[in-house]
Amino acid sequence: MSGLWQDKLRKIDPYVPGEQAQIPDLVKLNANENPYPPSPRVAEVFRTFAVDGLRLYPNANATRLKTALAAHHGVSPTQVFVGNGSDDVLALTFQAFFCSEQPVLFPDITYSFYPVWCSLFRTPYETVPLNAQFRINPRDYDRPSGGVLLPNPNAPTGIAENRAFLEDILAHNQDCVVIIDEAYVDFGAWSCVPLLEKYDNLLIVQTFSKSRSLAGLRIGVALGSETLIRTLEAVKNSYNSYTMDALTIEAGAASVEDDSYFRATCRKVMDTRERCAREFEALGFSVCPSSANFLFVTHPTARAKDIFLAMRARNLFIRYFDLPRIDNYLRITVGTDDEMDKLLTALREYLAQANV
Ligand SMILES: *Cc1c(COP(=O)(O)O)cnc(C)c1O
Repeated sequence: MSGLWQDKLRKIDPYVPGEQAQIPDLVKLNANENPYPPSPRVAEVFRTFAVDGLRLYPNANATRLKTALAAHHGVSPTQVFVGNGSDDVLALTFQAFFCSEQPVLFPDITYSFYPVWCSLFRTPYETVPLNAQFRINPRDYDRPSGGVLLPNPNAPTGIAENRAFLEDILAHNQDCVVIIDEAYVDFGAWSCVPLLEKYDNLLIVQTFSKSRSLAGLRIGVALGSETLIRTLEAVKNSYNSYTMDALTIEAGAASVEDDSYFRATCRKVMDTRERCAREFEALGFSVCPSSANFLFVTHPTARAKDIFLAMRARNLFIRYFDLPRIDNYLRITVGTDDEMDKLLTALREYLAQANV
């Protein structure tokens, strides 16, 4: 038998998500999941859903969910795209919008899935270094490119840029699609939605996984001009018409319609974040100013990897990235006050006994 068929297989290094361990009493602060349950209206959809309807294919346009999102954001339903998590939406945007020979630009420190999609779809790209404070210099993006991709707030730093900064990027990049990944925008950053009126090359991507406590349901959203959304739909319908199942469409719409629950949950996460940022500082950590549901921290003497392993041994899961420039940082998801207190107590003990 020849093994030559193996040479024809795709060789690729995939993205590695935060570990999903099944351990009792685990404090899971490693994947930016929300510690609070989704809106009770989502539970109601699950209780009352007519299972007989599953005989039929779902509505390929996900009209019910798009209508709810359009009302929520004050845009037309034709400016809304939904997909199976924002990772699915982002993967489609690469195929729909990054089709030139010129490199797509994104920061060197950012969501580590972006270079993986570039490699999967053979999209040329260039990373643009953040400065020493992990900030983006907008002037670095004043040049022809195949597209611009920026998360705001950025991941894994949590740092958000303001309206003037984002308008500046858009004003200087009108000959390509500019994608702003707003996965964490609901935790206190400024959303680009008002700029959609002015820039028809702007695409905003959001997710239900963080601020809406629905990571397990998989809902991602894109907002943009009708031309961008029509192009995304065409790519999706050339690949899989039914990325959204019938139950998810209903549950997602129910979540969007419960705005007061949504806002109260985001507020709780932000309050815990601000309290804990001060507590980490009291333990000697430097804390990046966060507008997200996580804190990105580094300690002057204790090594991040050692802290990560010591916390892991106590069933306290946080995130460590073995990547250039950030390999002495930890990304800590904001959990409940009780979960954060457990982590803070363990860190206090560790730093005292490690003699660092
Ligand atoms: C979490 C995250 C996503 C993906 O979220 P989904 O669960 O796939 O919707 C996309 N971008 C960034 C920056 C994220 O942190």
